[in-house]
Amino acid sequence: MLVAEKSPIPSFKGFSVKVFRQGRTNLSERRLSRTQVVFVPTRGVVGVFLHAAHGTVEESLLMAAWQAQNCPQVTLPDENHIALFGCLVPVRCVPFAGYEDVWMQEGELQVAFKRAIDPVKRRAHVEAFARKALLDAAHASLETFKPRLKRMPQRIDICPLRPRILGQCTRDGVIRLNESLCHLPQSVMEETLAHELVHLEHFNHSTAFWLRLTELLPDWLPRTLAHYLS
Ligand SMILES: [Zn+2]
Repeated sequence: MLVAEKSPIPSFKGFSVKVFRQGRTNLSERRLSRTQVVFVPTRGVVGVFLHAAHGTVEESLLMAAWQAQNCPQVTLPDENHIALFGCLVPVRCVPFAGYEDVWMQEGELQVAFKRAIDPVKRRAHVEAFARKALLDAAHASLETFKPRLKRMPQRIDICPLRPRILGQCTRDGVIRLNESLCHLPQSVMEETLAHELVHLEHFNHSTAFWLRLTELLPDWLPRTLAHYLS
């Protein structure tokens, strides 16, 4: 629905600028009402999403959006950090703890090792923690949608899906969420979940589907834009 095009401004405040344009042939339910600018500091990218008829990207547009979003700084994760729901969380290792565990403490992810630090186990622990955090957030989000749903999912699974596929829904009501959603803002996971929940009622992308999604989550469209920057 949105097509990437070359940006006249390659970088802004350390972010690389990606530009996408709305095609002219979209359903009215999926049309951008105005230009949207989305900064993802933990990926170091900013996306500019334009109307079909909009002119080119100007520095003033980026500056206004940057100021409106509290002047985010580029914060790329290194081996001592994990990007969790769009925030950078430090990862601290506790060697020779006598046990193995992973937990969050005062805004830091702690990873305990029986003996010396093992980078392979470290990664496995951090990834397992992120998947669990994503599943917990999805269940909490499901509770907020529940009173307005006609059908509940059988269960929610966190899976490694192809990058552009953030969620899937099977005919028997199993919802799969892409494990990479744990790195993006939580609003993107909520939108993905809402999309798959609507598939439990409409197993297609008909107009009725988009209207029902808009009823369930009116601001679903701006939330989806971060997909394009992952
Ligand atoms: Zn769909």
